Order: sequence, then C-alpha cells, then structure tokens
Amino acid sequence: MNDCLFCRIAAGEIPATVLYEDDQHIAFRDINPAAPVHAIVIPKAHYGTLLDVPDAGVHGALLEAACAAARALGLEQGGFRLVANFGGDGGQEVMHVHWHLLGGRLLGWPPG
Ligand code: 5GP
Ligand code: ZN
Repeated sequence: MNDCLFCRIAAGEIPATVLYEDDQHIAFRDINPAAPVHAIVIPKAHYGTLLDVPDAGVHGALLEAACAAARALGLEQGGFRLVANFGGDGGQEVMHVHWHLLGGRLLGWPPG
C-alpha cells in the first residue's frame, strides 16, 4: 500500500535500521525505542491489524519471524517481550500489523 508507512519501510522507500529479515517479514528498529532493544516485526504484505490477518499460517509465520528476530538479537538468554497493540485501548497507531519486540532491560508488569 502506497500510503502505509510500514509498507514503505518494507519496500525500502523510507529508511529504517533493519534488524532481521526473511522472505516474508522484516524487523526494524523502532524510531522511538522503549527499551535498549525495540524492534518492529512486520509481514511485508499489508494487513491492517491483528484482526485483519487472514489465517493461522500468516499469524504463525509472523510469530515465528518475531522469535527468530529475538534469537538473532541475542535476547534468548536475558528474555524479551512481544506486544501487539490493537484498537483505541490497545493504542495501535500504525495500521500495518506488527509485533513490538522489546528487550535489553527488565520490563515492568503490568504495562502502562
Ligand atoms: P503502535 O502504536 O502502532 O503499536 O506502534 C507503532 C510504532 O511505530 C511506535 O512504537 C513508533 O515509535 C513506531 N514508528 C512510527 N513511525 C516510525 C518510523 O517512521 N520509523 C520507525 N522505525 N518506527 C516508527
Ligand atoms: Zn502496510
């Protein structure tokens, strides 16, 4: 989608620090990181939200990519958190489905 920020990042039209990539997914550094490691993991194909993802295969592959990114970023030992925001209460701002991958410090619970 031309007017989607994360599609444009996936296409290389908007620069981002790529942290992990496979055929169908890309993970890049969040521009406003909430932790020492904060990656945004997306499918290269456009789906607006978590609830627009069409099937378990796409969901599963995205989650697998997030886990692969966590390993690639060395978070396996220290730990990490995956967060997917949805809707007004969840606080999703960019309408291209994504997981936040956070790590590198002790993360508080519950989140704000
Ligand atoms: P959401 O609130 O939709 O779950 O998360 C969107 C995330 O995208 C935010 O954490 C925000 O900092 C990040 N973000 C917004 N615009 C850009 C951008 O242009 N580049 C990068 N790398 N991250 C962005
Ligand atoms: Zn998109």
